[in-house]
Amino acid sequence: MQETLAQLLEDIRGCRHCADALPCGPRPIVQAHGAAPLRIIGQAPGRKVHETGIPWDDPSGDRLRRWLGLTSEQFYDPRKVAIVPIGFCYPGKASSGDQPPRPECASLWHDRLNAHLRDVRLTLLIGQYAQAHYLGDRRKATLSDTVRAWREYLPLGSLPLPHPSPRNQPWLAKNPWFEEELVPDIQNAIRSLNL
Ligand code: SF4
Repeated sequence: MQETLAQLLEDIRGCRHCADALPCGPRPIVQAHGAAPLRIIGQAPGRKVHETGIPWDDPSGDRLRRWLGLTSEQFYDPRKVAIVPIGFCYPGKASSGDQPPRPECASLWHDRLNAHLRDVRLTLLIGQYAQAHYLGDRRKATLSDTVRAWREYLPLGSLPLPHPSPRNQPWLAKNPWFEEELVPDIQNAIRSLNL
């Protein structure tokens, strides 16, 4: 018998597969419901999210919700938005920023989880790890090139985005077309989902 989404989420939340590599221990962060039309594939939770257990509960999340034109109430409704990071647990600090998401996590869980997300009509691929996993060789040479080619991916149901972290401010300052052209397109695409 196929596992239910509730069983799968329970398994994910109990996962300790790479516990030895996680300096703060496992705390998988995921939000999912079979009815969600919007799926957000992010990177991995940061330290603050690890502590609160609430996805995107940080300045990156504030900026992401502004880009999407979504209220917190809409964003945290699992029937509207599935939140599925490439690595479900906080991977710890690096010399600059955080460590990359754990490489084993997405291959362990994403296909099983996505099998339950049958109503998804738009997937946001935030940052290089999400784009590498979901676009593979359909990625362009750089993250900037991939994001800039959004009109190519949107009809196929995906939107590649940069990370909304305050640490990414220099990229946003260097690429004003993102806020001027892409953000309005994101908001139109989200509006068409009638969340
Ligand atoms: S990062 Fe993924 S694989 Fe590792 S313990 Fe957390 S849920 Fe499991």
